[in-house]
Amino acid sequence: MPELPEVETIRRQLAPKVAGREIAAVEIGLPRLLKYPDPACFLREIIGKRIEKLERRGKYLLFRLTGDMTMIIHLRMTGRLFYRAADTVRDAHTHVVFVFDNGFELRFADMRTLGTLCLLADTELGKIKGLHEMGPEPLTAAFDLKYFQQLLANKKTKIKGLLLDQRRIGGLGNIYVDESLHLAGIHPERPAGSLSPDEISNLHQAINTVIREGIEHGGTTFRDYVDGEGKAGTHQHHLRVYGRKQEPCVTCGTAIERKEVAGRGSYYCPCCQK
Ligand SMILES: [Zn+2]
Repeated sequence: MPELPEVETIRRQLAPKVAGREIAAVEIGLPRLLKYPDPACFLREIIGKRIEKLERRGKYLLFRLTGDMTMIIHLRMTGRLFYRAADTVRDAHTHVVFVFDNGFELRFADMRTLGTLCLLADTELGKIKGLHEMGPEPLTAAFDLKYFQQLLANKKTKIKGLLLDQRRIGGLGNIYVDESLHLAGIHPERPAGSLSPDEISNLHQAINTVIREGIEHGGTTFRDYVDGEGKAGTHQHHLRVYGRKQEPCVTCGTAIERKEVAGRGSYYCPCCQK
């Protein structure tokens, strides 16, 4: 699933292209991707609106529209967004197309069709529970060391599970959690409350580092992710543990192991991560 760095990469590419564009028409090939409102209402509301800016919160993309409305897109597992000239061949699995006033289109493609699109008045955004309840995200002022210390204090939950919980920290997923834990030298199964002050500080810094590097590298393409121009990211070439089972640890050379933690396949170095 695209995580914060992948969605941010898409946002950065698409934002200058879609900002100021008017939505002249919308083609809906798969109505069930529109979670709210119903397709007829969605069309009636969105056509003629102009995109003022494209923002991101966690893994959600927020298209801020004229008329104080917002279209929210979540890519889930395999959702993709492309900005293309209207006369180009459409990518496989294109299900929703936003036709602009300048001969270009924004196309939503999704092989597994788990992605979602919603259109809401700005005052109704609280209806999107995942967005409303999302915790602060890495690289923001709200995600400071004090917040992180309080988050972990006295928690018996495994640290991996806690870091994946979007209500506590927004935007982290399986890849960047495993990378952060390795960089900080912490085993994914440690109870969150058992980390020493130094470990908490190291992990806080590691989370910000891996997210910043992920964005700098245009995201991680492990299976499906491509950016807004259809190109793969490059952070997969910099991964320390994720997807590297049996390969040598970049720090100590020990073979990386994989086990199920918090319901997710987790990669770690049995030597470096205590
Ligand atoms: Zn190691």
